[in-house]
Amino acid sequence: MIRSTLLTLALVGLAAAATAQTWEENLAAGAATTPQNHLNVPFNTFTNMRTVYSSPGNWPIFENRGPIDRSPQDKPSKVLVMGSGDPNPNPYRHGPALAVIVNDYPYFIDAGEGWWRAVSYSIQSQSAIDLISIMGVQNLKYMFLTHLHEDHTVGLPSFISNPFKFGQLLGGVDKKVYGPEGVDEMMAHINAAWRIDRNEMAQGSTVQKFDGATAVGIPVWPLTDVNGRKIYEDDNVLVEAFPTAHGFLEHSYAYRFTTKPDNRVLVFGGDGHYSEGLVNAARDADILFVEGITRRNIMSAPWGGQTLEEKLEIIGAYHMFPSDMKRLQDDSGVRNIVMVHVQNYNTPEDFDRLSVLQEMIDEGVTNILQAADGDIY
Ligand SMILES: [Zn+2]
Ligand SMILES: [Zn+2]
Repeated sequence: MIRSTLLTLALVGLAAAATAQTWEENLAAGAATTPQNHLNVPFNTFTNMRTVYSSPGNWPIFENRGPIDRSPQDKPSKVLVMGSGDPNPNPYRHGPALAVIVNDYPYFIDAGEGWWRAVSYSIQSQSAIDLISIMGVQNLKYMFLTHLHEDHTVGLPSFISNPFKFGQLLGGVDKKVYGPEGVDEMMAHINAAWRIDRNEMAQGSTVQKFDGATAVGIPVWPLTDVNGRKIYEDDNVLVEAFPTAHGFLEHSYAYRFTTKPDNRVLVFGGDGHYSEGLVNAARDADILFVEGITRRNIMSAPWGGQTLEEKLEIIGAYHMFPSDMKRLQDDSGVRNIVMVHVQNYNTPEDFDRLSVLQEMIDEGVTNILQAADGDIY
């Protein structure tokens, strides 16, 4: 009996030691995560992998693990990855959604598909911080959009309406949504589109007030100076925006957060390839959260032309190949990179869920990890 209690205590001790790993140890552990193929079993596999619903990009997870707290334990400011997914309709990875948490207050970056569910998923799967109180509906106020592509914005109606519906009696708060030119128009249209729903809720028996029912879009525009500029500041954070290069969008941004209590520099690159603005945003930062895409298996990408030349040119105009990532790290001096929104293409037979990470490492990129939903950094 005593022996088994001691054994239990020893195991608990081991678990505690494992969670208290340093950042460097966490990096090593993350990079060494065992590659596991075909974790979708017993999910269906299909002979026709070219449909939008059935390619490896839609398979359950990109890493064989649950959410991890990889944040430095001596830093109170955290980054929560609520959604690490890409446009592939993957029901197990939420669309792009991140949060900087300072003094138990969240600042959100991008509102991908399933935003409201992603909040709940993080709360239920990650216990390292008190997400229930941090994500109280009265705290859901500030959103920073890297760009206005659908996969980064389709969660906005949820960001506005669901906290209003579910938590308005607790004290709703109107939203402030920062983003490129057009964000004011987008928010006005969203407010208008859900007008009937909002009015009905406000007249119902349970909800009497409009507080928190709407959002205002605040354009960070024009922003062409690659040196960026300050767009927001309060007692918790300083936020600067920098122009990035993403496809044929005229305006897409990276956001550089400096946390005031502990002086962390946390950068969110959104989508895009190497650019001077992104280098400046990430300069000497603690962590850059950024996308990455396969170069090795790019012929399996279901878009971007037919030939290799077409795919390299078209997809390379939108996304971050390993050679771009290496150049970005070298030129910016960023200390750590966490990949989100990873686009990992291959045939099902040869699919390796960590292969984009491996491509980056093979290219010479160091201190790089791949995020899963619910991770803390
Ligand atoms: Zn995009
Ligand atoms: Zn995207």
